[in-house]
Amino acid sequence: MTTFESLGLSPEILKAIEDLGFESPSEVQEQTIPILLEEPTDMVALAQTGTGKTAAFGFPLIQNIDLNSKKTQGLILSPTRELCMQITNELKQYAKYYQNLNTVAVYGGASITDQARQIKRGAQIIVATPGRMKDMIQRNIIDISNINICILDEADEMLNMGFFEDIKEILSHSSDQKNTWLFSATMPKEVSMIAKKFMKSPKEITVGQKNISTKSVSHEYFIVGGRDRYSAVKRVVDANPDIYAVIFCRTKRDTQKVAEKLIEDGYSASALHGDLSQAQRDMVMNSFRKKQIQMLVATDVAARGIDVDDITHVINYQLPDEIETYTHRSGRTGRAGKEGKSLVIVTKSEVRKIRQVEKIIGQKFTQEELPSGDEICK
Ligand code: ADP
Ligand code: MG
Repeated sequence: MTTFESLGLSPEILKAIEDLGFESPSEVQEQTIPILLEEPTDMVALAQTGTGKTAAFGFPLIQNIDLNSKKTQGLILSPTRELCMQITNELKQYAKYYQNLNTVAVYGGASITDQARQIKRGAQIIVATPGRMKDMIQRNIIDISNINICILDEADEMLNMGFFEDIKEILSHSSDQKNTWLFSATMPKEVSMIAKKFMKSPKEITVGQKNISTKSVSHEYFIVGGRDRYSAVKRVVDANPDIYAVIFCRTKRDTQKVAEKLIEDGYSASALHGDLSQAQRDMVMNSFRKKQIQMLVATDVAARGIDVDDITHVINYQLPDEIETYTHRSGRTGRAGKEGKSLVIVTKSEVRKIRQVEKIIGQKFTQEELPSGDEICK
């Protein structure tokens, strides 16, 4: 059996591993760590959730940091605030026997000033969500021109959540000399695209089965008359009393209108769009997360980055203007291996757009009939 000692890890890290009680490396750790320690390289590593990917990139990253410099040398991008905090905690445990190693977490929904202060004191490693990171770079609070290593963690989830443009913007502020390590549970098309775009002949490691997607989202569409979109939504909701859904509309006006109608008709719904204040938006998101609201009616912009588990349905009140956005919408359901449905309401003339979406997502839609009155009453 392989030991941590044989992977080339430093005495400080080995001691921390002992404290953590890890007995032997997991498969993804065994495969990635020696490569990442040996020489600078780009890497794509695919392994299921729970297989120890944080340590697989965390140990080599820590060992790569020049402790004599306070400059930011490593950046980890991760999809959610919770994951950022979790990764930061793990890294602090791994690096506990190193003095002068500072890891700072940077994420939205918390004070920028506090985070900026921590960074000023010197953060060799930053763990960030893409939205906040982009913001901090644009405000000149963070300089990543010296990073040697950029890690894209849970890359599939980041792309599902619509962070592609932010990642692109962030990476444009880093040097071409750096190495990029991409970790992901699955390898959908978007992830291979990102690998092609941002990496130079990466080494590839796959542990377990190569999954195109562990996501189990089925895509369905309904054809309705132009004025019947709202009644179609109602029929879907009536047929699924336990629905927990995000309904995407193209405009703020439709978003507001659909939410208001649903509420008027006695459903549990709330609107989320850019005309609401930040406080109002936080309140809506909190009630939705706590399941006090069953349906969130949202614009694409407002819903970007939503990380809520258990969403059973994504309903496309209309298809998005940019069909690429469809991936981000449907990615809100079917998370963590749970099944989800992404439903699209279209008029006859819009059916050809469904064919375009199919090409982008690499999956077929099924055409469904709207639930009939009989089904709803049972
Ligand atoms: P992933 O990112 O692949 O989903 P994590 O890095 O979050 O997985 O690790 C999952 C859990 O396994 C964590 O609690 C972590 O502390 C633990 N873990 C990681 N590596 C090992 C190991 N070699 N032996 C025992 N536990 C480990
Ligand atoms: Mg992880």
